[in-house]
Amino acid sequence: PVRVRFAPSPTGMFHVGGARSALYNWATARQHGGKFVLRIEDTDAARNREEWTEGIISALAAVGISNADPAFEGPYFQSENVARHREASAELYEAGLAYYCDCTREQVTERTGSQQLGYDGFCRDRGLSFEAGHALRFRTPDEGGTVVVDLIRGNPEFPNSAIEDFVIARGDGSPVFLLANVVDDLDEGITQVIRGEEHLSNTPKQQLLWRALGAEPPVWAHLPVIVNEKRQKLSKRRDKVALEDYLAEGYLPEAMVNYLMLLGWGPKDDVEIRPYAELEQLFSVEDVNGASAFFDVKKLTAFNGEYIRALPVERFVAACGPWLTAPHAPWSAEAFDPALFVTVAGLAQTRISVLSEITAYVDFLFLDEPVRDEASWAKAMKEGAADLLREARRRLADAAWEAETLKAVLEETAAAAGLKLGKAQAPIRVAVTGRTVGLPLFESLEVLGRERTLVRLDKALA
Ligand code: GLU
Repeated sequence: PVRVRFAPSPTGMFHVGGARSALYNWATARQHGGKFVLRIEDTDAARNREEWTEGIISALAAVGISNADPAFEGPYFQSENVARHREASAELYEAGLAYYCDCTREQVTERTGSQQLGYDGFCRDRGLSFEAGHALRFRTPDEGGTVVVDLIRGNPEFPNSAIEDFVIARGDGSPVFLLANVVDDLDEGITQVIRGEEHLSNTPKQQLLWRALGAEPPVWAHLPVIVNEKRQKLSKRRDKVALEDYLAEGYLPEAMVNYLMLLGWGPKDDVEIRPYAELEQLFSVEDVNGASAFFDVKKLTAFNGEYIRALPVERFVAACGPWLTAPHAPWSAEAFDPALFVTVAGLAQTRISVLSEITAYVDFLFLDEPVRDEASWAKAMKEGAADLLREARRRLADAAWEAETLKAVLEETAAAAGLKLGKAQAPIRVAVTGRTVGLPLFESLEVLGRERTLVRLDKALA
């Protein structure tokens, strides 16, 4: 049976790259009727926080990966398997596959004349025993090579002579991550390790450990790095990388999932926007592209717009919920009128690409005074604008208050001023909504109502 795993370290917000790895693992598990094991690699007590673990679990649930599905197993915690990690290091020592070493880094550098060369094997045959301060090193083979079966990178061969005798337990006896990671994978019966490319250089060492522990290594798949528009590796210091931040800004989970599935892979028919269930069927880890994957926020945003437009309007209204109240909304709770929002929701739905944009489209309805964007105001209120507004105000005072009629009235107003309707709309729109872009003007006026519209025109003229 196929058993894959996702093994995040709970050291921060949940990175979009982690979400992609998780989704590729999830798709692989579900395609084969296998299992997806969630393992929290929490042995670095100084950097781990419980809230990050909770964040990982809820972010995974947001993209559809949770114990509600029988393919999900866990979570397991690496810290709970420490006894087994120690057992494995003892086993390797007793089998003569590892030895104790008391060299300092300085001594090694002095002997090899370089900081780059790695360990020179000085203690290999000194027969040191365990003592505080002695590290345990794995004795790597001198000859031959280690072939890593990697579904994405071909099967690179690493000459064993180039793999140094690496540390598997520290001077205080605690096993290092490299070993813990292997022991856990082994104990959990993992058959395929699908993870980020940054772990590729560890793989020959880990594969040697699998064999030394008497087990057949898994098949590996190292996913390409994710880069920003400058082709720099996506980093939390430079880029927006937290899945939570995208969701909080109003990217829909379905759109995120769809976009992340395409970050390094694509369906053969090139139909990119499609439900996860289809992507899962089509996905194949062998077809993942080894080249770095560009995280294109513009494309993600375009996807999100498509997903927003595809929602039934009631679901769109519900999805906007969080943005219509504090702390996102610029209006007070009492000022918000859900029924009024519903009347314009469909119009807004076709215009926004991220849910957080909703407030700018409807704030004119819920604020006493429209937001006044000075630059737009100056641009729209050129000479002639006041006359136009005055004339519009006069004609609107007793017009039938319905979008079609309002359009006709403003067309007449524009014609009388010798203007095209498009030109004449700008000052009216700015006076009433504060902005130059927004919902269709006549529908906006209809929903705002005569009284409020006239008050705003008067204010603009004052
Ligand atoms: N805990 C490691 C990380 O978050 C994962 C190692 C692995 O997938 O093997 O980078």
